[in-house]
Amino acid sequence: MTDELDLAAVVAGGTVDVLDFPKPGIVFKDLMPLFADGPAFRTVIDGIVAHYGKDTFDVVAGVEARGFVVAAAVAYAAGVGVVPVRKAGKLPRPAIAVSYELEYGEATLEVHEDAFVAGQRVLVVDDVLATGGTAGAALELVERAGGTVAGFTVLMELAFLKGRERLGSRTVHALLTV
Ligand code: AMP
Repeated sequence: MTDELDLAAVVAGGTVDVLDFPKPGIVFKDLMPLFADGPAFRTVIDGIVAHYGKDTFDVVAGVEARGFVVAAAVAYAAGVGVVPVRKAGKLPRPAIAVSYELEYGEATLEVHEDAFVAGQRVLVVDDVLATGGTAGAALELVERAGGTVAGFTVLMELAFLKGRERLGSRTVHALLTV
């Protein structure tokens, strides 16, 4: 099993900082080189599954869009299914919606209202935790749809944006914290 320090180094090694994207002043953490590197990607996915243990969750929920990449791989590695948490207006059947504040304006996430069996243990994943608005909405959606949050994990946490504080008592697992 790869230890936590090594996992952090693998995430750091697969990330490119893109200055002023998508707008001036933002440093975008581009994890696509990590996704494109087979051994590195497998190492981080296996690290997430090992951190929680295969028997601690029944399904994985991933947040659109880069969270889908991580969620599907974690689900496959653990032998469970995957539920997409989507941006507004994309789901074809009745859905539950949660809106949250962005720096400028508002965003909405949705999940099918029958996405989870009552009490199903859901591991929620995304690529980056920044201000925590996205994560807070995703976790609320899982619970409103009848799931039980088994954990929340990201590849990278931007600690200076204090996303954890927005998530209250919830436990956050980050492979790399910067
Ligand atoms: P937030 O709601 O502020 O925590 O933002 C988290 C979501 O926005 C995640 O789904 C990330 O993919 C994306 N995100 C926010 N800030 C960044 C960043 N600096 N680099 C890469 N992705 C980011």
